[in-house]
Amino acid sequence: MDRLLVVGAGPKAMAVAAKAHVLRTLGLPAPDVTVVEPHAVGGNWLATGGWTDGRHQLGTSPEKDLGFPYHSTWARGHNQAINEAMMAFSWSSFLVERGTYAEWVDRGRPSPQHNVWAKYLQWVARKIDLDLVAGSVRKISAAADGWLVTVADADGVTSEIDADQLMITGPGNSGRALADHPKVLSIAEFWDLAGKRKLPVSSRAAVIGGGETAGSAMDELVRHDVLTVSVISPGATIYTRGESYFENSLFSDPAKWRALSIDERRDVMRRCDRGVFSVRVQESLLADNRVHHLQGRVVRVAEQGDGVSLTLRNDLRPDQQHNFDLVVDATGGQALWFLDLFDADAADLVELAIGGPITQARLEASMGHDLAVDGLDAKLYLPNLAGLAQGPGFPNLSCLGQLSDRVLATTATSPVAVNAEPARSGRP
Ligand SMILES: Cc1cc2nc3c(=O)[nH]c(=O)nc-3n(C[C@H](O)[C@H](O)[C@H](O)COP(=O)(O)OP(=O)(O)OC[C@H]3O[C@@H](n4cnc5c(N)ncnc54)[C@H](O)[C@@H]3O)c2cc1C
Repeated sequence: MDRLLVVGAGPKAMAVAAKAHVLRTLGLPAPDVTVVEPHAVGGNWLATGGWTDGRHQLGTSPEKDLGFPYHSTWARGHNQAINEAMMAFSWSSFLVERGTYAEWVDRGRPSPQHNVWAKYLQWVARKIDLDLVAGSVRKISAAADGWLVTVADADGVTSEIDADQLMITGPGNSGRALADHPKVLSIAEFWDLAGKRKLPVSSRAAVIGGGETAGSAMDELVRHDVLTVSVISPGATIYTRGESYFENSLFSDPAKWRALSIDERRDVMRRCDRGVFSVRVQESLLADNRVHHLQGRVVRVAEQGDGVSLTLRNDLRPDQQHNFDLVVDATGGQALWFLDLFDADAADLVELAIGGPITQARLEASMGHDLAVDGLDAKLYLPNLAGLAQGPGFPNLSCLGQLSDRVLATTATSPVAVNAEPARSGRP
């Protein structure tokens, strides 16, 4: 049986591993899923991952869990059984098993703190007996019929794993900052200091970035001793995430996405996904008169007395300088962080498949229906880059059940195996 190796034990890995477990339980073909993770299952939702202190709330509903939207399209005749089996790994099943389901409903179904979301992922990992390798992926090489993945454990001891297919998840490193300056904090440094209540006292603080990472950082910063907090982003404003049925349904159900033009798709993503704070974060920030928005791209960071001066650039205006005594770089993940892991031969293979030097735009355009790079013999799944081509929900938590269907469908190569079992209901 094929081995699918997943880099990082976040929600995407768990969605795929749980679905593969369900398929096997139903007697259907699925690869062996191995997940490599240096911290813990759900590591980026805990303080140790450097993206949160674990105490902030999930922006989306936890009911958008590993099986959501429970509308499997994996194989006709089996989809209803797959949906039912995936319910065993749902957020509500987790609460039922913990004995807190009724309380959660009675409290109005609140979004959990990030660390509780990690506990949910860990609960699923235990239930499916996840094949978890504790370590960090250090190198990815091309092998005869797949990938050779070098993993370093906590002591730096390396081992190699052969994989037929590879899936990359997560945003990369949280320790990166715009400048090497004591008053410019990476998001990991920010959460580390905030957790220890050791953030430097500041009169003028700035958070660079307009996404979920910046939203959580702002939410935290206003609880500390600051006179003003400016959020800096290139957009004219920070939008509130559209949460209407029409907007949400494009995220939950990617079927309609391919019918939209590229301009329409970019428009939806701009409005709903990039440069937006969740309704809850916006509400808590709007009430605070210390919070302001500054438009522009930061193009220069310079020492300025005890703090730093940031130069902001906007297309139709002269550059502006603003001084701060604390800056948090919350620009979020690097889309192509994983390329540092690829050796020259592996990178060459990808270049050949996408028809030129590796750029984000080329990779995004090459994402196939299965969320893998088109034209590569050995599957390389990059769901974080599949938003534009396949659906805006694939990079985030909006349709993890669809994501696992798409990734695992390619292994359903044998029509005999797929069609052998009679349909359990009349529904597709
Ligand atoms: C603060 C914050 C809040 C967010 N809230 C939401 C939300 O409410 N709703 C939503 O839809 N999206 C949210 N997001 C976006 C979120 O990152 C994604 O939706 C989701 O976590 C992506 O899941 P994932 O499985 O790709 O990655 P992650 O959950 O980020 O997991 C990646 C894993 O990879 C591991 N890893 C890193 N490097 C290596 C390596 N070299 N080898 C092996 N493992 C490695 C990490 O330790 C980590 O555990 C939020 C992001 C942030 C930063």
